Amino acid sequence: MSESVLKTLVIYTATLVIAVALASVLILIPAYVHYGEIHIPGSYNALYLSKYSPYKTIVVEIDYQPGMEPTPKTIEALQQQIEMYSGKEVLVYLDQDIEDDEVPAVIYGYDIIKITSMLQEQNRDYRTGWFGGNITLYILYLDTIWQQEDQDYSNRMHAASTKPYSVGVTYAADSIIIFKGSLPQNDMETTILLHELGHVWGFGHTNESSNIMNAEFEVYRNGPSPDDVVETWYPKDFSPAQKEELARLHETMHILALFN
Ligand SMILES: [Zn+2]
Repeated sequence: MSESVLKTLVIYTATLVIAVALASVLILIPAYVHYGEIHIPGSYNALYLSKYSPYKTIVVEIDYQPGMEPTPKTIEALQQQIEMYSGKEVLVYLDQDIEDDEVPAVIYGYDIIKITSMLQEQNRDYRTGWFGGNITLYILYLDTIWQQEDQDYSNRMHAASTKPYSVGVTYAADSIIIFKGSLPQNDMETTILLHELGHVWGFGHTNESSNIMNAEFEVYRNGPSPDDVVETWYPKDFSPAQKEELARLHETMHILALFN
């Protein structure tokens, strides 16, 4: 191989490497951040928690329907938990933005995605910057019932079926819904919100009844009356193993969960 050919090859290779590096920074990472925002619970976990995250402030926006406002105790617990594990400044904004006529009385199956995208479009004020700005968490407090399965329930409005309703859901990297009208007891609210925060931080469900990530806490009654409440005690904190994982995420340098 002649020297000039080799030189050309080196120049082409170097150009290619630089182009790929630039594309990763300018296109790939912002695209990922944008994609995660829409699709993947847990994919922002290290962006929220890592001390190497480019974001120094977490903005929590809570929009609620009239009468569905979170309790001060729950807001305090949320803020305290996020501050503790992220080491970042946490700003919480509360807005009674959601009008009753924006939300159907019952939401079925995957309609939840369509309806909440619309609610976000109309009401969300803070969004995550694509490197720079703040990272945001969006929480909706709704007065509706979410029937996860597309089945035909008779008496569906009155919980006569033994099918459980969900009291909370995390449906994107940065978006939570609390179905406050479905909560059987007020003291469950903090537990449900921290459970959903656990999903935002990448936790799946466990089967231990005393664990905050137990899915059973999303099942709240087996009939229509308050006497049918099946849980009377709710965990209010993460387990030691989960706390360890959150501390690990704080130390992690892998701020994009590309291989989750
Ligand atoms: Zn869950």
